[in-house]
Amino acid sequence: MNQDTPIIELKGVGEKTRRLFEKLNIETVGDLLKSYPKDYEVFEEPEKIGRIRPGEVCAVYAAVSGIPNEKKVRKLTILNVNIADETGKLQLTFFNMPFLKKVLRQGGFYVFRGTVQSRGSLRIMEQPRIFSLEDYRKQTNCLNPKYSLTKGLTDKAFRKAVKQALSDYIFEEEYYPEEMLKTYGLEDERRAVEAIHFPPDVKQLARARKRLVFDEFFSFLFLLRENRRFSEGLENRYQMFETADTVRFLEQLPFPLTRAQKKVWQEIRDDLGGNYCMNRLIQGDVGSGKTILAVLALLMTAANGYQGALMAPTEVLAMQHYETVCGYVEKYGIAFRPVLLVGSMTAKEKKEIYEKIASGEANLIIGTHALIQAKAEYKALGLVVTDEQHRFGVRQRESLAEKGESPHILVMSATPIPRTLAIILYGDLHISVIDELPANRLPIKNCVVNTSYRPKAYQFIARQVSEGRQVYVICPQVEEGEMEDLENVVDYAEKLKSALPPQIRVSYLHGRMRPADKNRIMEEFGAHSIDVLVSTTVIEVGINVPNATVMMVENAERFGLAQLHQLRGRVGRGEYQSYCIFVSAQEKEETMERLQILNKSNDGFYIASEDLKLRGPGDMFGIRQSGEFSFRMGDIYTDAAVLKEASDAVDRLFQTDPELELPASQKLKRHLRDMSANVDFRSI
Ligand code: ADP
Ligand code: MG
Repeated sequence: MNQDTPIIELKGVGEKTRRLFEKLNIETVGDLLKSYPKDYEVFEEPEKIGRIRPGEVCAVYAAVSGIPNEKKVRKLTILNVNIADETGKLQLTFFNMPFLKKVLRQGGFYVFRGTVQSRGSLRIMEQPRIFSLEDYRKQTNCLNPKYSLTKGLTDKAFRKAVKQALSDYIFEEEYYPEEMLKTYGLEDERRAVEAIHFPPDVKQLARARKRLVFDEFFSFLFLLRENRRFSEGLENRYQMFETADTVRFLEQLPFPLTRAQKKVWQEIRDDLGGNYCMNRLIQGDVGSGKTILAVLALLMTAANGYQGALMAPTEVLAMQHYETVCGYVEKYGIAFRPVLLVGSMTAKEKKEIYEKIASGEANLIIGTHALIQAKAEYKALGLVVTDEQHRFGVRQRESLAEKGESPHILVMSATPIPRTLAIILYGDLHISVIDELPANRLPIKNCVVNTSYRPKAYQFIARQVSEGRQVYVICPQVEEGEMEDLENVVDYAEKLKSALPPQIRVSYLHGRMRPADKNRIMEEFGAHSIDVLVSTTVIEVGINVPNATVMMVENAERFGLAQLHQLRGRVGRGEYQSYCIFVSAQEKEETMERLQILNKSNDGFYIASEDLKLRGPGDMFGIRQSGEFSFRMGDIYTDAAVLKEASDAVDRLFQTDPELELPASQKLKRHLRDMSANVDFRSI
């Protein structure tokens, strides 16, 4: 049994379970073993009733102290049971579990585990799990894995499948050289995979995690290194000259470039006109004005008779770029003949676009990554720009070269990465930094509030709309269900409509809508036919509607700070004073403290570093950061130390054996090649 074996071949996994796993994109044994737990449940020693605190999950060992009392409320059967130990009393409440009446006999001792709540002087545990002391003892102090599940699939079933997979799976022979394992203190792979799913203790869990994070970073950096060797010193086959087009365009723009933009534009021009092919990253906080630099580089490309491509991570963003560029063409008559290439187009439309690309009739191709890379045959592709979130894949330069192309490459990113890490993670690129915002910006005003502030927030929104501005409201999910207490886009939009004056036009947007509908809504919002847009995080990156001045985020506690900073970046993009309202449904001190960081600063670098201080190195279950480096397990910030070790290991490997000829290097290379065919580096 290897990583490609379908999970249906596991004992105990039938068609029904297979289908449930499929919903989670788990199809093979490899997928299953790589679906690491999202957390672990620890069964702690039972506590005395007198000592437990409301709001906490805990276990108590106590006797049923009265006869269970059953009530019917509409369709609900409610069973109340009192329990007690020598230190106090507690009420248990069960819903629709009438059979427990017979199980829980007065005087019987059990372990009950659940969350304790207080109602006045009464303390209640709802729906606790029930164990005999003996059963509970067996599990005490174990780390029981909890997985990302789907409806119908339980942790128990998940664990069973993983156990089975672990017993049947044949692990590959160790691929790291012995010395490397020693130098970096790496656990053996098999032990690591076993312990990440079923950790014997916290220490072994940490060791397991380190090995797996190291693996992720190492294989990524290895490919990056090969990519760099490949692209370094690649001859510039599209040498360009600066023409009047870009100069005139800049003169016509309603604003001057900032000092930082000017510096980066100079670096780009030097690259395009130089002897070597460009491999450049532009790093700049949200709103720093990266798009205009891409447009300038693409214009220079078009003016020199070559084609340029602009790739965006989402269709919505691609559409927006297309409209921006068309706007420029119309207004300033610049030399673009742009086409848009997105998934929601019909096959016929796409075919026409591909023809225009092949004939050279189109000199600027804007679209989503997948489409631009897949089938397009270019006449003379001179420059590829990728915007936001997706870095240019470590393999893509090679695959373009195989097609006989080696265009200049420009990558734009808003992820605030400290310089030391950027050098590692973008080791194959030259880095340009935009370190200032346009001068006309007013700093965004922020507030962090609880849900009782909503009526006030709605009044504020209504006022902004009456002044001609627009508003975003972000909710964490699409429809009711998945997780109860979270706000969802569809219902929220309805609620908001009735809370706001009737003339205010409210609409919603989420990732599960048809792309064409998404595009239409975004266009309407851009054209100001919608005042308030309720949305999931699909608008997180890149969206630019400078007239929008309020960003309200519901359940802000559910998002990572970097993500919230990105969301906030959707406002404050024009001359108007903008506002950000973070609504937290949780008033835990830690949560509030974390959100206060956003309140204090609008600087992405500062936020990333403060967030790191709160989470601490090796933080395993902090809210994951979104962004371009979404490794499965590793977090570039909190695992920065492991990242440095992996980078060091790659350096040493290439130092001692630059051509990777030694048997140990060959083995490692084979392993990484095999793996990278399978491994999904997500956006990387
Ligand atoms: P990001 O860096 O987040 O991609 P954009 O490129 O979308 O930011 O720019 C945000 C807004 O700022 C756009 O409306 C853009 O036209 C405007 N902008 C860009 N450069 C300047 C500048 N130098 N002065 C004023 N506004 C600018
Ligand atoms: Mg942008």
